[in-house]
Amino acid sequence: MMDAVKYLKIKNRMTKRCSRSRPSDCSQCVLDFDNNHYKITCEMFELQHPEEAVAAVEKWGEKHPETRMSDFLKKFPKAEVLKYGYDEYIDICPVYIDTTRNCPNGECKKCKLEYWNEEVEE
Ligand SMILES: [Zn+2]
Repeated sequence: MMDAVKYLKIKNRMTKRCSRSRPSDCSQCVLDFDNNHYKITCEMFELQHPEEAVAAVEKWGEKHPETRMSDFLKKFPKAEVLKYGYDEYIDICPVYIDTTRNCPNGECKKCKLEYWNEEVEE
């Protein structure tokens, strides 16, 4: 079972994401009333079923690793997140902030999608 620091980091990543793009909608949070199978609040779920809550958050964390975008949003939480299908990205081409990057002609959306969704160390 993962430690408390890791649990909180993943939980913060998950809930920040849902509060930013969907202000009063916790539908993306695995602890939420509608997602925890018990139809209880997230606080009650953690209180009454701690092992399951930790397992659910851990599973979410494996599917949603820390990315350059989630890391960036910790420092710039008000940055606009654009959607492309099910994917999201920040509207900043990496060539402006990383001199090792190239932006292929006419493929900037692809280059931003790739750059901002790259996995990074937590
Ligand atoms: Zn670009």
